[in-house]
Amino acid sequence: MESMSAEERERYSRQMAMPEFGAAAQERLRRARVLLIGAGGLGSPAAQYLAAAGVGTIGLIDDDNVELSNLHRQLLHGSGDVGRRKVESAARRLREVNPHVRVEAIHGRFAANNAVDLARGWDVVVDGCDNFPTRYASNDACVALGIPNVYGSIWRFEGQVSVFAPHLGGPCYRCLNPHAPAPGTVPGCAEAGVLGVLPGLVGTLQALETIKLLTGIGHLLIGRLLHIDALTMKFREFALRVDPSCERCAEGRREAPVQAEGGECAVGAAAVREISVRELRTWRDEGRRHVLLDVREDWELAVSRLDPHLHIPLGQLEERLAEVPKNIPLFVLCHSGVRSAAAVRFLADAGFDDVSNVKGGIAAWSAEIGGGNRPQMSTPATHGLRGGGVDA
Ligand SMILES: [Zn+2]
Repeated sequence: MESMSAEERERYSRQMAMPEFGAAAQERLRRARVLLIGAGGLGSPAAQYLAAAGVGTIGLIDDDNVELSNLHRQLLHGSGDVGRRKVESAARRLREVNPHVRVEAIHGRFAANNAVDLARGWDVVVDGCDNFPTRYASNDACVALGIPNVYGSIWRFEGQVSVFAPHLGGPCYRCLNPHAPAPGTVPGCAEAGVLGVLPGLVGTLQALETIKLLTGIGHLLIGRLLHIDALTMKFREFALRVDPSCERCAEGRREAPVQAEGGECAVGAAAVREISVRELRTWRDEGRRHVLLDVREDWELAVSRLDPHLHIPLGQLEERLAEVPKNIPLFVLCHSGVRSAAAVRFLADAGFDDVSNVKGGIAAWSAEIGGGNRPQMSTPATHGLRGGGVDA
């Protein structure tokens, strides 16, 4: 590779001026190859910052076309790009940001059947996808190939960032979520809604972790999950644990073929009986007999919870069904009311006849009632995402 031109030295001079960074780190960026999965809300800031910083080769894969409703958050694309392929408008924008960057754009879907071929040869994969089949495929391919996977996700006003890298001693995405939720139990952005700034923030943090990975500076989010609540502007950190029995990253399993996982997000599942958060408050204020079943994960209860409650994560409900009392009104709670609706359907099928979904979940409770028990994070990174025991 040719040495840096005077133009490049000037272009990158402000970051090269930092002694921790310098010319050596810049040279590492120039030689680096980063694959971005998704040229949408997360990919937009990530790709632009990585290009501006001087990452030598940026790969982009996305199978979508630009829609008008994308533009409030996907700043890679302009108003004139509506109807065009996202990878085309993105590649054009990135070349404008920095002509020294080589852009390899693929109009297609990153999936289990092509994941390993597409991910091979990249130094870092930035996962900015919006669906479970791609998320699991990118995790599995990165584990198989020993490539760090920079994870970001958003949900309404909340974001999460982490770096999955079992080959560097951390967990993988499947250590946290062994399998995708059933199709129809989790709505996508179109149904859930998203504030434009939030993916901008999360995707920018993904770019930052990527630059740290490539240059070897700083302390990475490996084994740590950063949770962002934009409404309260609280940034919390959770320690993530390696699942020694993880079916993907446990020793001897990493090279296994990538399996397709999860269906497309969908709406329109059967209606369930519901209770509003205001009705729930009345029940609780009046001390009426009921059990509040919280089906979220341990770490979510560490962020916010309603006591007293019975806690069984949705994924364990079937095996722990005997713990759920009968002959008492049962109200099922999750973050936004989607997983709990799935739990209500399951419980109704299992013979529980007085079971209702808490509409809007604890997010609605926080918005309409306020409070909830918010345990303080005494020491960052001490609570496990799984089996943390926070909700004792
Ligand atoms: Zn794992």
